[in-house]
Amino acid sequence: MKFDTVIIGGGLAGMVCGIRLAEAGERCAIVSQGQSALHFSSGSFDLLSRMPDGTPVSDPMVGVAELERIAPEHPYARIGAERCDRYARQVPAFLREAGLPVTGEDRRNHFRITPMGKSKATWLTLEGYLRTEAPGQFPFRQVCIVNVEGFLDFYPEFVAEEFRKYDITCRFGTINFPDLEQIRQNPSEMRSANIARVFDHERNLEALAAKIREVAADCEAVILPAIIGLNRDDAFAVLQSKVDKPLYLLPTLPPSIPGIKAQQALQARFRALGGEYFLGDTVLSGELENGRVKQIYTANQGNIPFQADHFVLATGSFFSKGLVATPDRIVEPVFGADTVFTSDRSTWYTLHFFDRQNYQAFGLRTDAELRVMKEGVALENLYGIGAGLSGFHPVQEGCGAGVSLLSAFYVAETILNSRKS
Ligand SMILES: Cc1cc2nc3c(=O)[nH]c(=O)nc-3n(C[C@H](O)[C@H](O)[C@H](O)COP(=O)(O)OP(=O)(O)OC[C@H]3O[C@@H](n4cnc5c(N)ncnc54)[C@H](O)[C@@H]3O)c2cc1C
Repeated sequence: MKFDTVIIGGGLAGMVCGIRLAEAGERCAIVSQGQSALHFSSGSFDLLSRMPDGTPVSDPMVGVAELERIAPEHPYARIGAERCDRYARQVPAFLREAGLPVTGEDRRNHFRITPMGKSKATWLTLEGYLRTEAPGQFPFRQVCIVNVEGFLDFYPEFVAEEFRKYDITCRFGTINFPDLEQIRQNPSEMRSANIARVFDHERNLEALAAKIREVAADCEAVILPAIIGLNRDDAFAVLQSKVDKPLYLLPTLPPSIPGIKAQQALQARFRALGGEYFLGDTVLSGELENGRVKQIYTANQGNIPFQADHFVLATGSFFSKGLVATPDRIVEPVFGADTVFTSDRSTWYTLHFFDRQNYQAFGLRTDAELRVMKEGVALENLYGIGAGLSGFHPVQEGCGAGVSLLSAFYVAETILNSRKS
């Protein structure tokens, strides 16, 4: 099979790169083994929330410019502050075009609310989700936190405890439906995705609105866990139009409805642009020739290779098995590419879970154009993007989605520019 570009890994980074290339008319394939980190997403996209020393960042681009000076190995420093700024300004429209309307300023972080009610700095948040300009600056003084009976991946009491710190009065409303009884029979089925399927039906969405009106009758605003809109884009708008007060969604514990929606929307956009998406296939190996990737082999296609002018490695980090830790090394399993890590294993992590963990910055060794290196030499037509890159701390720095988005934009542009020369 011959393509212009083959992307290995169909998470946020792989799909964004694929869409950028397909928009420009490239014949592009994405081969992806399974679900991605998006299925665990909060519904917000972080760009840069903290500097490496923990200093909070309010304008991500000021932070990115500083990273260029103090952290040259950071993916943003490699991409360059100027390009990061240009790409970041394009991202909201890009996401909207893919059916993912987001709110947020390109040069100012806001705060999202976690499933536990905590405020966390972020950059863009999907429409409908509760966000504030500063911690505690809620758009209400009194709110009804609604939950579905038996749903265990959302904790109204924890949310209320956080809200009360800002003098917000919280009430609770529990809702139930005959159509939920079937999934309630098995508590492990009471997950956000199964519940959302119930509310994809007009009748149930209407009934949900009626219940919310009833339980939140004397409240100023309503909070609902993200249990609507799995297979219909208008669910929030329809519900809001039928509830006579402001409605806000909060993310739940995984599976994440906003994340699954994002995955589906990006996949659909890629396919609509003519891209070929091979889901459930694993790239097993790559064949190199004269410092280039000639072709790759997958589990499903056996000895039929995928050939392309360019390949993009978007297989993620440890979470998605794009990187694998052995007792003494960090391995990139497809190409055996060079990785950045410290040789003394005792320095990889600390036992304090929330501390800055060194292993999180381990990843692919690349050159300035994010070309993947093997045995110290950059492979001419293999680029690394997303969570598998080295040199950044997605959790501590709050830059996970941003690195995936901007590295995908950068590599797509590099590939397209190479066509011109
Ligand atoms: C649990 C979790 C939650 C997160 N939540 C957020 C959040 O709310 N906001 C935020 O800004 N950031 C978040 N992040 C950071 C996250 O890393 C990025 O946001 C981003 O989604 C990562 O995308 P990616 O495409 O680089 O990697 P991934 O999402 O990991 O995707 C890699 C893909 O490659 C596939 N793959 C791996 N190996 C192969 C192979 N050999 N062959 C074929 N396919 C392969 C995998 O199956 C997967 O689909 C989160 C990260 C994790 C782990």
